[in-house]
Parts: sequence; structure tokens; C-alpha cells
Amino acid sequence: MSKQFEKVFVEITNFCGLHCSFCTPKKDTKATMPLALFKKIAQEISPVTKLCALHILGDPLTLNNLNAYLDLAKHLKLEITTSGFFLDSKAISLLLNTQNIQQINLSLTSALYQNKPIAINSYLEPILELCEQHKHLQSEKFINLRLWNLNLDLSAPKENVILYQKIQDFFNLKTISPKKTRLAYKIHLLGAHFFEWVDLENLKNTTKTLNGFCYGASKQLGILCNGSVVPCCFDTKGTITLGNLNTQSLSEILHSKRTQNLIQGFQQNIRIEEFCQACKYPEYLKKKVKE
Ligand code: SF4
Ligand code: SF4
Repeated sequence: MSKQFEKVFVEITNFCGLHCSFCTPKKDTKATMPLALFKKIAQEISPVTKLCALHILGDPLTLNNLNAYLDLAKHLKLEITTSGFFLDSKAISLLLNTQNIQQINLSLTSALYQNKPIAINSYLEPILELCEQHKHLQSEKFINLRLWNLNLDLSAPKENVILYQKIQDFFNLKTISPKKTRLAYKIHLLGAHFFEWVDLENLKNTTKTLNGFCYGASKQLGILCNGSVVPCCFDTKGTITLGNLNTQSLSEILHSKRTQNLIQGFQQNIRIEEFCQACKYPEYLKKKVKE
């Protein structure tokens, strides 16, 4: 098999410990992928994907045995996404010293949208320490500080000012550009506007678009912590479950009728699944191609 996937998202836990007001409907129960299942998944995705992203909804840094997962994924190129809330000196060392982690994403947006305001200084402290140690080690990994809450015209909302100010001071910069700022070697601040999640509770009444292209199931794939395979990381509840890796092989799932129909539909610019018809990602992709 060739490496058909650019990225496979694997949710090793759906627990993040936070309550962001913008989050997609939350999982009903906290769940973590068993190590034995992760081992099977890591082996099966290895020949077909260029990259494995350890994230769909939860935060990998909430796991106290994250190192055991990383040990099973030594043969994969990894990307990891975290809110940064659980970053401590042990996690910093693990992230920076795990050779095959190529990119560390920190979703700073989460700090601004909790029920109760959080202390920004203490939140940022370990994140900036990670950046400092990255510099000291002359690490080649990418660190992306993400603020995906920009307005549609990519200007920044006022909530961001406090974070910009602290980041600007720490990196000794004159200005910050909300869309993209290089903070240091391989460390960037990246902005994007809020992603509009599919309203699952109101799916029947959501406006649908029948035409549209997407790389779901052909170049990107998601695997939820219960082993369900979904076409993308936006299908956080397994609405389009293509199969389950507890009982099936990845190859069987990728060749299933539902997967093939979905892919062939997209090739003809048709969204077969109702969930995809309500999803905004194809419009985002179209806009990106035009840019
Ligand atoms: S957006 Fe991410 S960090 Fe925030 S509640 Fe949802 S899963 Fe958790
Ligand atoms: S259209 Fe949306 S829901 Fe469907 S596969 Fe693409 S990103 Fe996922």
C-alpha cells in the first residue's frame, strides 16, 4: 500500500479536562484508547500515512502514561496537539526528547473561553518554558501557538490582546500579526477564524449543501478512542463510522462500500453523507484553493 494519507488523526483519549464554550458537543463519557488497540492501529496506519496526529478532541497530556503510547509509535512521524493546561516539566521533556514528534500544537484559544477566567500568566508559563528549552536545544521540531478565534476578516478579537502582549514581550517582538507571526526559529503564532462545527443535535434542520469536495477518507482519516474509523477529525462522535479497528482491519474498512461511496462521491463533487452536507469544511477548502 502506498502512503495515501497525508494525516491520520488518532484520539488516544477524549478527555481534555476543560470546558471551552466553542467546543463541539462533548463526549458523554471519558474514554481512553487501550494500549493494545493503539499498538494495532500504529502498525496498521504506518504503511499508509505520512503523519499521525495524536488528537481529535481530548488532550494527550492528560494521560500519565503518554510515554507508553509514544513508545508504540516510534516508527511514525507524529504531531501532537494540546491545550497546554497540563504541560509541566515532565511533559516538556517528553515532548522535546521524543525524536519522532515533529510538531507540537498548543491551542491557546482554550485559555480564553473557559467558564471561569483563568490566570493567563500561570497558564503561559510552561508554554513559554517549552519554547525556551526548544531554543536552548536548537530543536528542529515545529511549535505552533494557535489562536483560532479570529474574526472572519482575520482581525483579532479583543480577548487576544493579553496573550499577544505577553508573547510579544517574551519573544522581544515589535508587533504581532494575528494570522501568522514567526516568534523564533521554528516557533510560530498562527491564527485562523473559528471553525463552525456541525450542529449534531439539529442535523435534520441544518441547511445542507449537496455538492462539494473533501479529502475525507482519501487523504485524511480519523480514529476515535473506541476504535471507530471516521473520515476526518471533525466527526468527533462517529456519525460516519466506516468500521471499527477492534474487530476489522484497516484495509477492510478502507475497501468497505460506505468508505468507497464517500470517496467516489467527493471525486464527483457530491457529498454522500448527511453529516458532510452540513459541514463547512468543503467551502473552506474551496476558498483556500482560490487564495
Ligand atoms: S475545544 Fe478541545 S480543549 Fe476545549 S473542551 Fe473541546 S476538546 Fe476540550
Ligand atoms: S465534508 Fe466535513 S465531515 Fe465530511 S469528510 Fe469532509 S471534513 Fe469530514
